[in-house]
Amino acid sequence: MIAEVVVDISNDSVDRVYDYFALPTTQVGMRVRVPFANRLVLGYVLKLKGDTDFDKSKLKTIKENLDDLPLIKPELVEMTDFMSSRFFLRKADIFKLILPASIRNDTVREKTFEVIKFTGDLASILPSMNKNAKSQIAVLNYLNEKGEEVRSKLSEKFGASAVKGLIDKGLVQIEIMHQNRTPSSEVLADNRVKLNKGQQYAVDTILANADTYLLKGVTGSGKTEVYMNVIESQLSQGKTAIMLVPEISLTPQMLNRFTSRFPNNVAVLHSGLSDGEKFDEWQRIFKGEAKVVLGARSAIFAPVENLGVIIIDEEHDNSYVSESNPRYITEDVAIWRGKYNDAPVIFGSATPKIESYQKALNGEFKLIELNERVNNLEMPCIQVVDMLNEVLDGNTSPYSRLLINKLKECVDNGKQAILFINRRGYASFMMCRECGYIAKCDDCAVSLVYHSSEEELKCHFCGKRYRALRNCPNCKSTSIKYGALGTQRVVNELQEIFPNVPIFRMDNDTTRQKDGHKKILMQFSKTSPSILVGTQMIAKGHDYPNVAFVGILDADVSLYTSDYRSTERTFQLVTQVAGRTGRKNNDGFVVLQTYAPKHYVYRFASQYDYVGFYNKEINLRETTMFPPFSHILRILVSSEDEQRCIQTTKKIYDRALKLKEKYGTMFMFLQAMPAPVKRIQRKYRYQILMRVGLSDNLVSDIYNIAEVQEKGVSIFIEHNPNNLR
Ligand code: ADP
Ligand code: ZN
Ligand code: ZN
Repeated sequence: MIAEVVVDISNDSVDRVYDYFALPTTQVGMRVRVPFANRLVLGYVLKLKGDTDFDKSKLKTIKENLDDLPLIKPELVEMTDFMSSRFFLRKADIFKLILPASIRNDTVREKTFEVIKFTGDLASILPSMNKNAKSQIAVLNYLNEKGEEVRSKLSEKFGASAVKGLIDKGLVQIEIMHQNRTPSSEVLADNRVKLNKGQQYAVDTILANADTYLLKGVTGSGKTEVYMNVIESQLSQGKTAIMLVPEISLTPQMLNRFTSRFPNNVAVLHSGLSDGEKFDEWQRIFKGEAKVVLGARSAIFAPVENLGVIIIDEEHDNSYVSESNPRYITEDVAIWRGKYNDAPVIFGSATPKIESYQKALNGEFKLIELNERVNNLEMPCIQVVDMLNEVLDGNTSPYSRLLINKLKECVDNGKQAILFINRRGYASFMMCRECGYIAKCDDCAVSLVYHSSEEELKCHFCGKRYRALRNCPNCKSTSIKYGALGTQRVVNELQEIFPNVPIFRMDNDTTRQKDGHKKILMQFSKTSPSILVGTQMIAKGHDYPNVAFVGILDADVSLYTSDYRSTERTFQLVTQVAGRTGRKNNDGFVVLQTYAPKHYVYRFASQYDYVGFYNKEINLRETTMFPPFSHILRILVSSEDEQRCIQTTKKIYDRALKLKEKYGTMFMFLQAMPAPVKRIQRKYRYQILMRVGLSDNLVSDIYNIAEVQEKGVSIFIEHNPNNLR
């Protein structure tokens, strides 16, 4: 037999697929070691076939199979074709996605322990034992009663030499047992609820047809219950399920709900696991011991068989697109696996992506809506506060008077509050504190980004540069604000106002250690009254019944990132954060602070008017020709050597110019410039930004021109990037 093998050579931007003579035991989906250019390298068997087009006399033979059984199941082997053509990825990189590093490189072993068994007849053995071997006799007596015991425990009780002595004499047997390193979760009493009409309709519809569904349900409408019921039904048919959540490590509650509903049947996969945990969870899935996979983006590659449903919860979340190589779009992979298994795929959100809702409207996705909260709970009132008025009235603190009053009322009532600080890493815009003026690009409808090193404002879409503001061009004020508020500062200031109320802080700094999020959330959930101050990570999926107040300190930060999705993202954030309150009683209240109270995003968000927002936004995208009415592509070139970086960028840019000639007006925008963050981890970064019409050929041509091999230079292409930095 001839085997087609993907040879894994790093630093090679093209795929190497070669034919080798297979070993008799070689199977598709195995890892193998093959001779390649005078060395032995890792490879993956894609296919077995009877013949080859190559000269057989020159064909080499696989050196060894690295697996006894294929580690990559047929479905996932087949998926590599789809992935490479859809995302322009190398097959070798796709296998890296499919096999976690610990499995791929054999760096982790099963954790085992020894159990000592005694099955002999004690009465007939004892007479032959030396009377002085008291410990050995004690062990035998003990085992005779218990049958077996863990070796380490026996050694602790009776001494290691006694146990070893018995083993050497062959009087007892050793059995090697596998020990699971399972991430901790609490199994609680399963709070099974009776589905309401809307939920039942959703479950029935989804189970009836293996389509792609958009489940659009307001926060607290019971989407998770819908997911769990669909899964339960599929499990009873002998099928499996994958459920993705943005960052499972942030939502220990979700894990608890799942392990309680599906005891011993849930495996989790996310980046917060130790290598050992990841290894064992993966093995449990692979062997079919866990039929429900709950995880972050990469869990879409879980080696489950016979999939019955794939769910992507909070489908609008950024984390479903990877921001580094190999870049893929989780939704597309989910739809492919759904089709392969004839299983429904569910995208769920209170605030679907503009693109997803458009697909639902044109029938590509089936739309299911849950427009009411469960138990007739109302959506919490969102009060928009104009921060400009605060300044004019002499309050220059980051907290409006209403916010402080409502916060006080909340904690006085013994309830919990959440304060959300909107922060988006590097990006800062410049704004006038007096009149609310925001520096924007003359040519593009986006706000400018402040680069402190050069004292400049730059447009990240066209590259145009402006001098940083000293005075407001509008009102001449010198009170210019930039950057974002820090969580620590907010905690300190609030602690002075509320000296007796426990305040918890959740951000990148406080959650660095393993299970950091879990510990903070656990403490918060047990403490009333209390206040939780945090960044984006508190917006997601938490369900704490006692939260009666949510404050959004700086809503505008996400509004003025220079990105065509910034308004959409602000709408999503506000809705998600507001959704954390009033989940058990009708006592939720939200204060949203902004310098742009009239902006349509706040008008629609405060009224929970998703459709109104969608209509406005999709119109805007159409008139400005932004996605989904165009494609935005960014080619990011990075290198430690700046000259090489520039040269490669130039080379690709010249090719892009030719494409522009070829495609004419379809090619709407083309510019090369340093990336917004010019240097990360000692690497210089340059980018070519393009906006083009809806032509797949054009997109694939762009991928092709970026295929440049340059030593020490890496190239990364993003299609409709989430976050330009
Ligand atoms: P979502 O995922 O849409 O935010 P959840 O599924 O988390 O909503 O439901 C919110 C809360 O309401 C949870 O505590 C859940 O247990 C409860 N719940 C969901 N459905 C029902 C129902 N039909 N009857 C009573 N309580 C429900
Ligand atoms: Zn511009
Ligand atoms: Zn001004």
